[in-house]
Amino acid sequence: VTETRQDVQALFEKLGGRFSDKFHYPMIHAAVHRTARRTPYLKDPGVVLLKTPRVDLSGTREFLAGYDQGFENYLDDNTAPITDSEALAKFAGQLCYMSFGENRTKNADAARYFDNIKEQRHGSVVEHVDYSFLIYGLGRDQTHELVRHRVGMGYSQQSQRYVGGPVLRFVERNEYESDPELHARFEDYIDNTAAEYELRTELLVKRQLAGDPSMAANSDSHARTELRKKVRQAARSVLTNEVEAPLIVSMNVRSGRHVIEMRAAAAADTAIRETMFRVYLCLALCEPNLFGDYEIDVLRDLSHGVRTRFSKI
Ligand SMILES: Cc1cc2nc3c(=O)[nH]c(=O)nc-3n(C[C@H](O)[C@H](O)[C@H](O)COP(=O)(O)OP(=O)(O)OC[C@H]3O[C@@H](n4cnc5c(N)ncnc54)[C@H](O)[C@@H]3O)c2cc1C
Repeated sequence: VTETRQDVQALFEKLGGRFSDKFHYPMIHAAVHRTARRTPYLKDPGVVLLKTPRVDLSGTREFLAGYDQGFENYLDDNTAPITDSEALAKFAGQLCYMSFGENRTKNADAARYFDNIKEQRHGSVVEHVDYSFLIYGLGRDQTHELVRHRVGMGYSQQSQRYVGGPVLRFVERNEYESDPELHARFEDYIDNTAAEYELRTELLVKRQLAGDPSMAANSDSHARTELRKKVRQAARSVLTNEVEAPLIVSMNVRSGRHVIEMRAAAAADTAIRETMFRVYLCLALCEPNLFGDYEIDVLRDLSHGVRTRFSKI
């Protein structure tokens, strides 16, 4: 089944999407659940858009005027509003051909302009536009897949060597959620994992306090941090793929589109697909000319996938 573009807003709302106060950035949060023994876990990914470019092209006026061709009128294009990101990428693309004169493609035709950029695979002009997201409610197995994307991507991920205990949370797969036996086994397993993690932490701290050299800090300058890491890095060996691994992910339009195409596609793991689908919804909402070309599919497993005729620009 292929849904239409207008469904972006409807699906965003259906998934509980809302907007931030300051810049009206989209976000889709995920609820935190607890087992009877109070072990926290999430059933869905959460994505929060933190940053899009804030662009001021007014500083280019002198540069444009210096050509004596009226190029500075470029800055007074009121034919249609476009986003800051689109203005930056369009300026970058139009600088390549010095298309600043009266016959240039105006903002009213930005959609056509960017479709042409995508078709020509002139993706380097959209690399100037980058975004940052908070992504959570995703298991370590899924974030391992995400961080395989290297080019144009930036990551900061919760350290399992530094934190654990009270901030340890788990992620339940959709496949388990609706099956009473699988769900019960999942809850049981994470309760046991959390308990085993705490027990090993206590035993390791004991060994550290008893002066075990394998638990010693190797430097004086960061001794406190190192001692803590010595314990956590060993105790984390009991953690499963089901442990949550929140991260900040930065991407530019070109790399972000590639990751969406790879990971929100039918062949991707359902959990990473649902995550990148949410990322896609957020971007399609606030950057229609850069991400509006995707079509949404409802797949046989009832999750969402996207595809575009402008693949890997
Ligand atoms: C459905 C699916 C199944 C997968 N299964 C496996 C698996 O079984 N085992 C496994 O190890 N991985 C697997 N992967 C991961 C996959 O092989 C890639 O490592 C991952 O998707 C990152 O994508 P990318 O290579 O496009 O890298 P990105 O960092 O996203 O790079 C973007 C693009 O830049 C170019 N590029 C990047 N690095 C180089 C380079 N060194 N040299 C030349 N060009 C480069 C390529 O054109 C690349 O597509 C799977 C991915 C998917 C989506």
